[in-house]
Amino acid sequence: MTQLAPTAEIAAQPSDTRRNLVGLDREGLAEALAPFGVEGFRLRQLWQWIYHRGATDFEQMSSLSKAVRATLADYFVIGRPMVSMHQQSTDGTQKWLLRFPDGKEVESVHIPETDRGTLCVSSQVGCTLTCKFCHTGTQRWVRNLEAPEIVGQVMLARDAFGEWPAPEHDRSLTNIVLMGMGEPLYNYDNVARAMRIVMDGEGLGISKRRITLSTAGVVPMIGQVGAELGVNLAISLHAVRDELRNELVPINRKYPLEQLMQACRDYPGLSNARRITFEYVMLKGVNDSLADAQAMVQLLKGIPAKINLIPFNPWPGSVFECSSNNAIRRFADYLSEQNMSAPIRHARGQDIMAACGQLKSESEKLRASERRKAAEAAAS
Ligand code: SAH
Repeated sequence: MTQLAPTAEIAAQPSDTRRNLVGLDREGLAEALAPFGVEGFRLRQLWQWIYHRGATDFEQMSSLSKAVRATLADYFVIGRPMVSMHQQSTDGTQKWLLRFPDGKEVESVHIPETDRGTLCVSSQVGCTLTCKFCHTGTQRWVRNLEAPEIVGQVMLARDAFGEWPAPEHDRSLTNIVLMGMGEPLYNYDNVARAMRIVMDGEGLGISKRRITLSTAGVVPMIGQVGAELGVNLAISLHAVRDELRNELVPINRKYPLEQLMQACRDYPGLSNARRITFEYVMLKGVNDSLADAQAMVQLLKGIPAKINLIPFNPWPGSVFECSSNNAIRRFADYLSEQNMSAPIRHARGQDIMAACGQLKSESEKLRASERRKAAEAAAS
């Protein structure tokens, strides 16, 4: 693993009272700029400068007059989240720990694959769900991310790959998964606002077909995601019986499997070409028996589905163990015999604690130990 120096520190400093334009949607931008006479065609140009060309300085905006550029720079910035740590795994996975002006931090992770590059984006600082096998779930709940803080994660990754404007072919950043820290459907308005900017053809230009929103099962919000955003849906399933799922994914007590499955069946735009992904973490002796696989086939009957079998990623203090390779194989084989697509996901970025369910706390710990070291060095 490599520890890299922070890449971008152009974030507005806490003392800087200028407003950040990044994360404003078209209406928001229009409202902010109307007092400066930037509207219509000019407004559209500004939108493209920010979201299509990635400009971070008004001086770059050669299509705007010098006077307008100078005025805008007095009142606004085009900022990025501050990078407080950037690590690269031996497998090419990168992780950024981002810090916002209030000191709160989240992580985003980029996973390169042969045919795509996926950015895993966080939607909240911490999480309220307390899923038993998830590291993020052990942390104190902190706050929702604002739309600009979500869009900022994507823009920062584009910066890192120099993809402004994004090339036609061989992009490093092609896909987005809302699978980082937090429950996106407990922060729907900000997530939706951010995704509209990300999907805008004159903006970041990432198609809804390449965006996947993952939820532990906030049933009343699921239909809205399909109707309003039309992105792909992933469900963190992890258990196929209510009794067990109540324990592993406590939100199941509020929205049990039957309701969740109904919401999946009703998901707008569902077809064989457009399936729901079910994430299933393999926990030794807990949910990995053949009986579980059989129950899963029954449960998902009639739903165009793809199952991601995720070997459990351990973290310090976790009470679970990962299923044996044999158990995972047997589970996967049974599902494919039943004509279900059930690939086994290989953990990426484990050496930098960037794999599923490992986000945030380790970096915090690392930072604490770094701080201690620095304090010791200063004292001696
Ligand atoms: N709250 C949303 C978004 C987070 S997605 C959701 O639950 O879907 C993060 C994914 O990683 C979820 O599927 C989660 O269940 C899975 N995960 C959490 N801890 C894990 C671990 N220790 N090993 C493997 N996967 C884990």
